[in-house]
Amino acid sequence: MIELKDTRTKQLYVFEGRLLGKCSGMELGNRPRWTDVEIYKTDTGLYPVAKRGMSKIFHRVEGGCINKSGKPMGEVTSFNNLTDDHVECTRCRPEDDLDVQQVRLEENFTTIIVCDSPAEVSRAMRLDSRVPIIAQRAYDRAQKVAPELEPYNPSKAVLL
Ligand SMILES: [Zn+2]
Repeated sequence: MIELKDTRTKQLYVFEGRLLGKCSGMELGNRPRWTDVEIYKTDTGLYPVAKRGMSKIFHRVEGGCINKSGKPMGEVTSFNNLTDDHVECTRCRPEDDLDVQQVRLEENFTTIIVCDSPAEVSRAMRLDSRVPIIAQRAYDRAQKVAPELEPYNPSKAVLL
């Protein structure tokens, strides 16, 4: 049983199936923000695609960075919960406060697109111009175990 949750719509997708292929932006080098792409196939013949916006950055709780909608970035967590992997924001510099107790850790975001055919998967990958290499690698890996997916061709335009 596989569970995928879309963090924006809060929709939970539960299915029997398997992961066909994935690629993590971490493969391109260690960075504080990156994208993961996963392509699944359900036993009923659907192709859920998960795109994950990942972050290891943390901000100050008081006087920390705010997002475009004016809200503080991240969720409050104890400074002690952080690992060496986490990265201090270079703008609000929470670690400059030597008595720091709590910080705001950026959340990870997941978008789920349920594709109902191999062609839809290919299209979903092409739409993702922000992460073409990651989408391409995930698709190539999925294509090796699911030959019904056409070879990836990002330049193939779709005229509607
Ligand atoms: Zn910050």
